[in-house]
Amino acid sequence: MKRYIDLTQIKKTIGIPLEAAYEEEASELGFNDLNLVNKVAVKARLTNMGSYINVQGEIQFELALECIRCLNPFILPSKTTFEVDYYKKISLVEPTEMALTEKDLRMAYYTDDRIDLLEEIRQDIILAVPVKPLCQEDCQGLCPSCGQNLNIGKCKCREEDIFSPWSSLKKLLEE
Ligand SMILES: [Zn+2]
Ligand SMILES: [Zn+2]
Repeated sequence: MKRYIDLTQIKKTIGIPLEAAYEEEASELGFNDLNLVNKVAVKARLTNMGSYINVQGEIQFELALECIRCLNPFILPSKTTFEVDYYKKISLVEPTEMALTEKDLRMAYYTDDRIDLLEEIRQDIILAVPVKPLCQEDCQGLCPSCGQNLNIGKCKCREEDIFSPWSSLKKLLEE
């Protein structure tokens, strides 16, 4: 991924937007704990607001997850958006408590007339990971008795649970 977005083009003129778009193999990002697969695509619009740079972005990515109901692995195409105001960093030393407030206010710093979106991308992907992933909205899950994946087909144990007048009749005829 183009790690840094160069601000040279927009730094002198207030209100001028800059569009940036790039994509990279998920494995190249170094977010090895996030189960990302295939490509991560980022689109960003940067605007010089005078005292800061406003960045509105969109991240498209794919997560490799395991369904909590049927335990099947599946790929979830995902999309998330972000908006952050980047201020030019004057001092190299920042107090810790200030860093916390910055995060809440969606503020960040940049240095050397370039913005690094990597940490922002990482945070947004973390927030977009579902707590209870489902392979499909109405996943039928597994049968608690035999373990059959009920999305593929019904199992015998479930059929027996349902009262059927035909099965009673069949039993009578058999006797
Ligand atoms: Zn499932
Ligand atoms: Zn079963």
